[in-house]
Order: sequence, then structure tokens, then C-alpha cells
Amino acid sequence: MAAKKLDRFDVVIIGGGVVGLAVAYQLSKSPAFVGKSIVILEREKGFGMQTSSRNSEVIHAGIYYDAQSLKAELCLHGRELLYDYCRRFEIPHSRIGKLIVAQSGQDTALEALEEKARTNGVTNLRMIDRALLTRIEPAVAASSALFSPSTGIIDSHSYMRSLLDNAERHGVIFSHSTSVESVMPEERGFLLSTIVDDGRVRQLYALRANTLINCAGLDAQHLATMVIEEYTSAADDQNLSEIFGVPEQVLSKGSYFDYTGANPFSHLIYPLPDSGHDALGIHATIDLSGALRFGPDAEWCENIDYSVDPSKAALFAKSVQQYFPALDPAKLKPGYSGIRTKLKTAAGAPSDFIIRSEKASGLPGLVNLFGIESPGLTSSLAIAERVESLLAETT
Ligand SMILES: Cc1cc2nc3c(=O)[nH]c(=O)nc-3n(C[C@H](O)[C@H](O)[C@H](O)COP(=O)(O)OP(=O)(O)OC[C@H]3O[C@@H](n4cnc5c(N)ncnc54)[C@H](O)[C@@H]3O)c2cc1C
Repeated sequence: MAAKKLDRFDVVIIGGGVVGLAVAYQLSKSPAFVGKSIVILEREKGFGMQTSSRNSEVIHAGIYYDAQSLKAELCLHGRELLYDYCRRFEIPHSRIGKLIVAQSGQDTALEALEEKARTNGVTNLRMIDRALLTRIEPAVAASSALFSPSTGIIDSHSYMRSLLDNAERHGVIFSHSTSVESVMPEERGFLLSTIVDDGRVRQLYALRANTLINCAGLDAQHLATMVIEEYTSAADDQNLSEIFGVPEQVLSKGSYFDYTGANPFSHLIYPLPDSGHDALGIHATIDLSGALRFGPDAEWCENIDYSVDPSKAALFAKSVQQYFPALDPAKLKPGYSGIRTKLKTAAGAPSDFIIRSEKASGLPGLVNLFGIESPGLTSSLAIAERVESLLAETT
């Protein structure tokens, strides 16, 4: 009996978060992909329901990252691409600017941060003394601050909606409620088994992909490991050391508290970063409606549990009162949380993005993205460009 002919797509993107959507948008408008079939497979009922809707919605300037890191490069470039995209497609956003505040004794650390930013190409930061800070942000208590005019906020849902609309206009198919359960490398491309479950009907669907892009966020390691296992068991003469390594993931949960009191700030207010957790510190973020929230904190975790522990309110109050002494702790209400995907690094070095074609390991059609934590939203269009150029070089 002849084997059933399966659907074959030129490009399959696993994950419909902001990164998978940006990659789909980028490829759909690329001359190299005209007429190619592109599908996004997303396990949730809609796009961007995991980390991409659980963040601060800040367009970062590119201040904090190590020189030569992919985060530094893609944040700076991505931020400009994102502001252009927002203007072009009328995505609600605002370049409101941010103040990183130092308490007494922290001024040297603030100067070091300015230096780091300059090395990364962020040359428009301005040191502000206490007197000027009090005029700009009277509710803030600090000895000095670094002003970043390129930092902004964005309506990330509108941005993702727009990426998907634009990609679909160029023929991309978005298949939600579709969970990729297994991936098997074949002589040419990949065989994927999925479960499509819309809540009423649950069915198996198998398909083939010439090119596979793993944008599965917190599940990227799990999917990549699945590919290796299938690959090595199918080719038992393979030297395992030639197969691509999957970087170990460590999870860091970040919770937010909404503030029901009046918002006294006109900029985003950040303390100095929390280097112990490779996080930015509990900051004040303002959304486009003017609502104020504080967060995220940083807590190493094993599992994905998005509940916010109300008992953390006291810790949040203590931390925020260092720069906002008038904060009323009773007005802190548990908000939401997100989980950062960090890569295990030697001696606590900061985690960086990995965007990698697996051609050298014998899988030319596979691109893996690992460790796409903050500033992944800001960098999304630059990440997508990087994926496009990797595909041009390797397939
Ligand atoms: C607390 C926090 C604050 C942040 N703040 C900012 C910020 O202010 N600015 C900024 O630039 N960045 C920020 N980030 C980072 C940013 O949110 C992420 O980098 C970005 O959302 C990652 O997008 P993604 O598409 O890679 O992942 P996700 O949004 O998680 O998307 C991955 C998708 O893959 C799907 N998936 C997984 N496995 C499968 C499977 N087997 N089959 C089908 N689908 C699957 C998931 O359902 C998910 O929708 C923050 C992150 C956190 C955690």
C-alpha cells in the first residue's frame, strides 16, 4: 500500500510568540521566500500567549548587555527597526524615556553602567544630579540618575497582531491549537507529528518541513533535544560529539504588582540592575493607558507556574520604597508573572541569545533559538533578520 502523501511546507516555524511572528513576517516579505509555503504552529489558542504577553512591554535602549554579545547588537538594531515598524504600521507606542536611579554610594556603579552603554553604542545617556531629578520626577528619591531618551513602551499585543496580519497578507498560515509532539529528521527536511486540539475535536496531524525554525521559547530546548534523539537513533553510526549541543536552560520567574494609587511618574524608573539574578531590578513601568505597576522581581524556579504570591507585597514595598518613599504598600495588588529562559553559563556570566543553524551538525534546514529572554521583544525584528540571513547562508 502506498504511504499517505503528507502536506509539505517550505518553512515551518514552531511557536507563535513575538519571535516566531517576527520571523514569519520577515520571511514572508523576503524576495528569497516569494512563493514559498510558510506555516506557524502554535500550541495555544492564539498568538503570544506565553512569555510574549508576560513582560514589561519596554523598548529597551541596549544599556546593560555585555559588549560583543548578541543581546547588545540585536537590541540596538532591533530597537530602531521596532520604532520604524511602530510608525509605519501605527502601533501604539511612546518613547517616554527612562531614569536609572542610584542611591548614595551607588554613583560609581551608575557611571560604570553609562560606560558599558557607551561601549555598546548607546551614546545619548545623560547623567542627572539630585536637583534636576527632583524637578523632573518629584516623587523619586535618589542621589543621581542616568536618563535614557531612547527607551520606550509599546502595546505588544497590537504589535504581534500586526506582524501576524502582515505575514498572513503574504500567504503565511497560522495554525493555533497545534502542539508539535515529535520531530524526526529525514533525508530531506523533517517529519513533524502534531496534535490539533481546539477544545472540541482533538486529532493527529503529520506534516513535512524543508526548513524548521525552533522559536518555542521556554520549550526550545525540549524540542531541540527531541530532534537530536531522533537523529542519533536513526543514524547509529553518527559520532554523537558532532551533533549539536543543547544549552542548559535555567528558569527565572518575574512577578509584577499593580499599583492602585495615583501614578506620580512620567518616565520609567529603574533601580540599578540585580546582578545576582542577571535581572534589571524591580522597576516602575507605565503602560500606554498610564497605569503603573512594579516588577519584575527575580526568583529561580523549576516549573512554569504563573501565579503571583500575594505575600511578596512586603518585599516589593521595601524594594520600591528605596526610590519611591511615598509608596503605599496597601495599594500593591498581585498582577501577573513571566518566566525568563536563561542559559546556564560558566561562573555566573550573563546569559546571551543563541540563534544557530545546525548545518554544521548535519541538519542544514534547522535553526534553533535559545535563551531569548529580555530584550527579546525589543530585538524581535533584528532576530528575524538574523534568522533570514542564516537561512540564506545555510540552505
Ligand atoms: C518578566 C519578563 C519581562 C520582560 N520584559 C521585556 C521587556 O520589557 N522588553 C523586552 O524587549 N523583552 C522583555 N522580555 C523578554 C520577552 O518577553 C521575550 O524575549 C519574548 O517574549 C520571547 O518571545 P518568544 O516568541 O521567543 O517566546 P514565547 O512568547 O514564549 O513564544 C513561544 C511560543 O512557542 C509555543 N510553543 C512551545 N512549544 C510548542 C510546541 N511543542 N508546539 C507548538 N507551539 C509551541 C508556546 O506556546 C509559545 O506561544 C521579558 C521577559 C520576561 C519573562
